[in-house]
Amino acid sequence: MGRLFAVEIVYRGIFQKNLAKNISRGIALAAKHDGKVGISFGRYGDSPERNGIPAKNFAIVATDDETLQEGMAKYEPKEVDISISVDDTLCKGVESWAWYGLQPINRLLKPGGTLIVTTMHGADPIITMCHRKEFPYRLALLTSIPSFSGLWVYKDDHTDVRLLGAIAKVLPDLFSLTSVEKAIREEWHDELKVKSAQKAYERISTRVVSPAEGNPEKPYEFELPKWYELREGLAIPSIPAGKAMADPTTQQTGGFRPDRNPTFKKYATRTMRPVVDFDTCVKCTLCWLQCPDSCFDVTPDAYYDANMEACCGCGVCEAVCPVTNCITMVNETAFADNASQWEMWKKDKAGYQTWLQEKIQHKPERSHGFRIRGQYEQQIGTMVKDGIVDTGTSGAGG
Ligand code: SF4
Ligand code: SF4
Repeated sequence: MGRLFAVEIVYRGIFQKNLAKNISRGIALAAKHDGKVGISFGRYGDSPERNGIPAKNFAIVATDDETLQEGMAKYEPKEVDISISVDDTLCKGVESWAWYGLQPINRLLKPGGTLIVTTMHGADPIITMCHRKEFPYRLALLTSIPSFSGLWVYKDDHTDVRLLGAIAKVLPDLFSLTSVEKAIREEWHDELKVKSAQKAYERISTRVVSPAEGNPEKPYEFELPKWYELREGLAIPSIPAGKAMADPTTQQTGGFRPDRNPTFKKYATRTMRPVVDFDTCVKCTLCWLQCPDSCFDVTPDAYYDANMEACCGCGVCEAVCPVTNCITMVNETAFADNASQWEMWKKDKAGYQTWLQEKIQHKPERSHGFRIRGQYEQQIGTMVKDGIVDTGTSGAGG
């Protein structure tokens, strides 16, 4: 029996669908040039995809046909050699269409496996976001602005080929850089992309993450009910109605907090979150009315507190708020928890202002598609300045 390799690509549904497909397909092609056989596919349970929700593609490679067939007999890999996260906010954990409860980004990694993250951050903030694992694994960072686009467009910033070059470095048994170069020439006919893959290969390095490092929170677990525990017919318990909230400073109760699904949390979809300046809020109710996910809790003093367990980060509240800079969307990586902003403000208003002013510096560097003409050039300009790409003929990749 030969050797089997598995790579998963964890991505944001729709916005990174084409990127994930390019990477997994590129892995199978590079493996072919290395004398192996491979296949790439999307996870069945992620279909139909939804905007931003975590989803997966897999690439399975084997040294011979029989081993590949045996590997493919499984529904999906139970463990992988490499997990790729193409958006760093996914490191907080992922909850997809396909399962209930937040799961760690590194959940399927084998002992000694490698997590590759595309990010502008260093190792420490990324490790802090990732759940702890019972054994050591390796972390590799590909310096990059998260590559987001839409369903019908592809933002060809070379993230796909840069990841192929990175894989050749961190797992040379899977395929060589030469095989990656051949695959790129065959698939994309683009020498600049070859150069980008070569650069990623040269620059990528790994760091061992020990079991003592990372988010100590226990990942969500559940047991499937036994057949004799199942109820007759199909009954879905409804979510109870909400109730009043308590003010942490006056103990006054009032307002309304809707009860929410205790298991399914929508925040894994979020790449940015709203922060509210309660000092300037005029209580107009628009954010509460327009939030598509009913995320706002109505507080006893009639403010509107975006509940971070429920918010999916769509940005509608920021768009509808009539007060300038009252709601600001901030990069999700700037936060370590989902605590109530209103409670923080009630307990210490001056401290909250300091916190808020620091947070709003973290403007999201990503976009869901292109908001303005020339946005891509602006982002590439930043990448060139930061040395992520060189100033070659098209200015992309690196
Ligand atoms: S970003 Fe605002 S509108 Fe969108 S889900 Fe979150 S709270 Fe609701
Ligand atoms: S939309 Fe803005 S001003 Fe109106 S209630 Fe919400 S936060 Fe306050």
